[in-house]
Amino acid sequence: METLVQTKGYAAPSVRAPLEPFSFQRRSLRPNDVGIDIKFCGICHSDIHQARDEWGGSIFPMVPGHEIAGVVSEVGANVTKYAVGDRVGVGCLVDSCRECDACLAGLEQYCKKGGTPTYNGLDKNGEPTYGGYSEHIVVDENYVLRIPDALPLDKAAPLLCAGITTYSPLRHWNAGPGKKVAIIGMGGLGHMGVKIAHALGAEVTVLSQSLSKQDDGKRFGADHYYATADPKTFAKLAGTFDLIINTVSAELDWNAYLSLLNLDGALVVVGAPSNPIPVAAFALIGGRHTLAGSGIGGIAETQEMLDFCAEHGIASDIEHVAIADVNEAYERVLKSDVRYRFVIDIATLSKKD
Ligand SMILES: [Zn+2]
Ligand SMILES: [Zn+2]
Repeated sequence: METLVQTKGYAAPSVRAPLEPFSFQRRSLRPNDVGIDIKFCGICHSDIHQARDEWGGSIFPMVPGHEIAGVVSEVGANVTKYAVGDRVGVGCLVDSCRECDACLAGLEQYCKKGGTPTYNGLDKNGEPTYGGYSEHIVVDENYVLRIPDALPLDKAAPLLCAGITTYSPLRHWNAGPGKKVAIIGMGGLGHMGVKIAHALGAEVTVLSQSLSKQDDGKRFGADHYYATADPKTFAKLAGTFDLIINTVSAELDWNAYLSLLNLDGALVVVGAPSNPIPVAAFALIGGRHTLAGSGIGGIAETQEMLDFCAEHGIASDIEHVAIADVNEAYERVLKSDVRYRFVIDIATLSKKD
């Protein structure tokens, strides 16, 4: 029997209920485990979807949070990769089967048996997982990332989901010099997509509903910025892009966006609209277009992304929020009223009582 360690956090007690203080237990360290004192945790739009059970199957009480940055406080007897005091991160996955083709290829996010999500999932013992809106977490060292010294922990936290979710498709579809890349949406994911695509050397265009964030977009490295509410945008940019990354979960005119692809171009979905995507066959056939999807990234690629961001001096633009204000922060995220990611300062958890 493992002993358990009492941990404080914030949880959604039931579907659509406001988050509130919650005390729960973490496992004590197994030989390959790393104990992490959490310093910051980003608020991802998917935290809200899951706390409101908009994707189905949510487990309550739910401690959300999969953009975790902290410091190693303890290591198990067999841990070799990390030592007490190391700056580390945890993203969307804390385990996977480690045996399937995907896991063996370092693509744990596509584990054929389904990986163990950082929260709102069940671990291999059938115990619910609890995420980063908490003071402490215990994770197998193989699912822990190293945060380079050049990256501040608060600005690095959103890289663990928003960063890797855009980095992975940009790399997979070879964004780089000579490639024209468009990013749909300038939110938490989109602003990271712009920074990373620019750092990879691509010519970057933002396709946003309005021009309200144009100055920021240019500052993040966008070469061009267009309002999609303006119908002239679609006529002007027809046949332009080698790669389009869609970061928004709103419904789109998919055929109109596919018409912006160059020959052999790909439109990659990383935001998840609730309705099925209606696509005309000829929007794909003409120009040999690809409509594809991509989900986060594997552990090795997530480390590669963190190292890349450190090397290029890029991280998330963030607003700090106290954990007691997380419900208000959720409302602001839903209104896209955040530039560009809320990050919970976990120190506010202990100050509150
Ligand atoms: Zn996320
Ligand atoms: Zn697997």
